[in-house]
This record gives sequence, C-alpha cells and structure tokens, in this order.
Amino acid sequence: MVRAIVSGAAGRMGGRIIHMMEGVPGIVLAGAVERPDHPAVGQDVGEVAGLPKKGITVAGSLADALPQGDVVIEFTHPEPTLANLKAAAEAGKSMVIGTTGLNTQQVGELKGLAARSKVVFAPNMSVGVNLLFKVVADIAAVLTEGYDVEIVEAHHRLKKDAPSGTAIKLAQVIAQALNRDLDKVGVYARHGMIGQRTAAEIGIQTVRAGDITGEHTVIFGGIGERLEVIHRAHNRDNFAKGAVRAALWIVDQKPGLYDMQDVLGLK
Ligand code: NAD
Repeated sequence: MVRAIVSGAAGRMGGRIIHMMEGVPGIVLAGAVERPDHPAVGQDVGEVAGLPKKGITVAGSLADALPQGDVVIEFTHPEPTLANLKAAAEAGKSMVIGTTGLNTQQVGELKGLAARSKVVFAPNMSVGVNLLFKVVADIAAVLTEGYDVEIVEAHHRLKKDAPSGTAIKLAQVIAQALNRDLDKVGVYARHGMIGQRTAAEIGIQTVRAGDITGEHTVIFGGIGERLEVIHRAHNRDNFAKGAVRAALWIVDQKPGLYDMQDVLGLK
C-alpha cells in the first residue's frame, strides 16, 4: 500500500486529490500539510475536505508528516514546493508536483533536486491534455511550415500565473517539433500597430474569466483551411485523478525526473 501525503491539503486541488484517492486500490492518505498559518492546521483532514473524519491531523510543516508517507503530492506555490522537495529528497521520499508558475531558475533548482529523488513534475496531470501534447507535436511534424500556430488558454479569475503551464508546454512541444526556439518565437501579447505576423511565431494568448476550470485551444492556421484541437476540463477531478495515478507509479521508478507522458506510457 502506497502511503500518500497531500501538501496544500486545504487548497482547491488538495481537496479534490483527497476525494479522488478514496477507493483507489493500492494507495491511502497518510498525511496532510498546509502552510503554518492556515486555519486548517490542527484540524482533521477529512473534515477539512468535506469527508468523514480520517484520524489524520493537518500538519503545519511537511517535516512533521514526512515519516508517515512514501510519496508527497504537492499542489501549492513555487517557493513551498521547492522547500518541500528539498525535505522530501533528503528523507528519500518520492514526490508528485503539480504546482505551476515556477520561473526558469526555480525549474533548474527542481531538476537538480529531482536527480537524487523520484519526482513526477507536470503542469497538467489530465490524461486528455497529455494526449494533446502528443497529438499537437504529431500535427506540427506533419504540417511543418505554412500553418500559423496560435495557442489560446482560458482559466478562472483566481489563477495567478499566466500563461498557464499547460499552454507553455504545448508551445514547447510544438516549437520542438518545428525545430524553433520558443524563447525567440513565442509571442505572449499583441497591441497596437505591431505589423504583420511572422511565419515562425507561436502566439500564446491568455483569457481569465469567471470559474473556467481550464481550456486550451491550439490553432494551426493555413491558407484555405485551419486545424483546431481543443481540450476542455469540466472540473478539477481529472487533474486530481492523474496526480493519484502518478503517485502510485512513481514509487516503483528509479531516481529521476519524470512527467505525465512517462506515467501514461506515451513516450
Ligand atoms: P489553491 O490556492 O486553492 O491551493 C494552494 C494551497 O497550498 C493553499 O491551500 C495554500 O494555503 C497551500 N500552501 C501554501 N503554502 C504552503 C506550504 N508551505 N505548505 C503546504 N501548503 C501550502 O490553489 P490550487 O487551485 O489548488 O492550485 C495549486 C497549484 O496547482 C497552482 O500552482 C495551480 O496552477 C496548480 N494546478 C496544477 C494542475 C496540474 O494538473 N498540474 C491542475 C490544477 C492546478
């Protein structure tokens, strides 16, 4: 039985992960963590998640919960994610990281720490989106030149980072398939007399509105036709299910950094 600790337990994702873990064979909730000043600290995690009591108290620090678990599922913010990864790596525990918004330096730090631990790091843990990563790379490789690539993402008004980690990953896999450098061809905003679109650019546009869980549209716009691939998340349960699946998978792997493509066998 894999013993999982949920970090960010009182958050939107943490709550759904705790719900989704119920009844999944082979994994059990063994600990829960929140930031030290969160009102959920000291409460029963079942009650925090809207479930019957579980006899597990929400800890205010990962160090207090780590001995009870084999794997940490982390959906928080970039700084606590790195601090918690350091603690998990030192204790020899696996980690599933869904946190987005890490900057280039933080991703570098994460990669360094993951080399001596077992880590799944994925900006989007949904099965459908991970299939989308593969499909758009295949489409780009067939179309090659002559089709303008635009990515449009939409999320709820509370989301802090933009564009979404998923939109960035979509742009990265397409850029790679087209042999382009995303740092040079990524266009994240347009306003005013900007001139004609260049052939190589990959547009990544952001919408923030209401309670949209997450939508990603990839447009390959050619002359006389266009191809559009759309993924719509209806709620957070698909991400939560993916995170639980990743937690079950990572504990049996060799040390290293993995993504959801590895978990789902899409590579
Ligand atoms: P949220 O704000 O509802 O939850 C984050 C939780 O982390 C909060 O409860 C907060 O108190 C807690 N937290 C902060 N510091 C902490 C610490 N030091 N230790 C433990 N907990 C701490 O946000 P959310 O909507 O649940 O999203 C969390 C993250 O997951 C974001 O980065 C979001 O973009 C990302 N996300 C990823 C996926 C995916 O599939 N990878 C899906 C949805 C959201």
